[in-house]
Amino acid sequence: ATHFKIDGLKAEIEGKEILKGINIEIKGGEIHAIMGPNGTGKSTLASALMGHPKYEVTEGAATLDGEDLLDMAVDERARAGLFLGMQYPSEITGVTNSDFLRSAINARREEGKEISLIRFIRLMEGKMKDLEMNPEFAHRYLNEGFSGGEKKRNEILQMMLIEPKIVILDEIDSGLDIDALKIVANGVNAMRSEDRGFLIITHYQRLLNYITPDFVHVMMQGRIVKSGGPELAARLESEGYDWVKEELGIVD
Ligand code: ADP
Ligand code: MG
Ligand code: MG
Repeated sequence: ATHFKIDGLKAEIEGKEILKGINIEIKGGEIHAIMGPNGTGKSTLASALMGHPKYEVTEGAATLDGEDLLDMAVDERARAGLFLGMQYPSEITGVTNSDFLRSAINARREEGKEISLIRFIRLMEGKMKDLEMNPEFAHRYLNEGFSGGEKKRNEILQMMLIEPKIVILDEIDSGLDIDALKIVANGVNAMRSEDRGFLIITHYQRLLNYITPDFVHVMMQGRIVKSGGPELAARLESEGYDWVKEELGIVD
């Protein structure tokens, strides 16, 4: 069964320590949410796990099914089953969405077991329909000229096709209207399975009305300062973050 473990992770950007020791353990079938004020290190955690060169891990470990992720190059992490759906996905001119998706699927497969073009197209078209995406987006350059909401749906499309073991979604809800939010949430819920774990990063509780997390973690100043169940997200929504700061004596 899938087992993802982040153990005492510390990371810095340009010599400034942002993550000050993060511990999270995600088993297959579980959805974990990270909530926290802006600038607290949530995106840094996602980027450090994916191996973004700007973020230097200085201490700690991250393993997926016992394999050390931090030792791997970015593409190896993806191949191992780690997926990041981003807040601001990059636009890549010259690579069509469908070309990108097909190589991403094949990168997770053994040589000689690549998906056939016909099967790929059928699969992609089916998922695009589920996500209520215009079929034309298959042939557009990756994210180029996509609106915020279209980019987010496209991230979910990638997730559905790549079938990762661990899905990290960083503020996938930002900029989505309520209908798009529901479509994205349905996509995530449809991907819930015993051998897949989720880490959903969000500033607002809104998305968690449609995706029920098993665990909610509050991140502040580079640390997980509080963990609980879905009720914790509801309380943060109604009362904000100040009570957590008061409870823990955090001054900012
Ligand atoms: P969050 O996602 O919780 O809003 P971030 O991880 O984006 O927070 O940012 C955490 C801290 O790291 C902030 O103080 C931010 O200014 C800083 N930071 C993030 N990315 C960069 C970067 N590329 N260069 C310099 N500082 C950064
Ligand atoms: Mg932010
Ligand atoms: Mg962020």
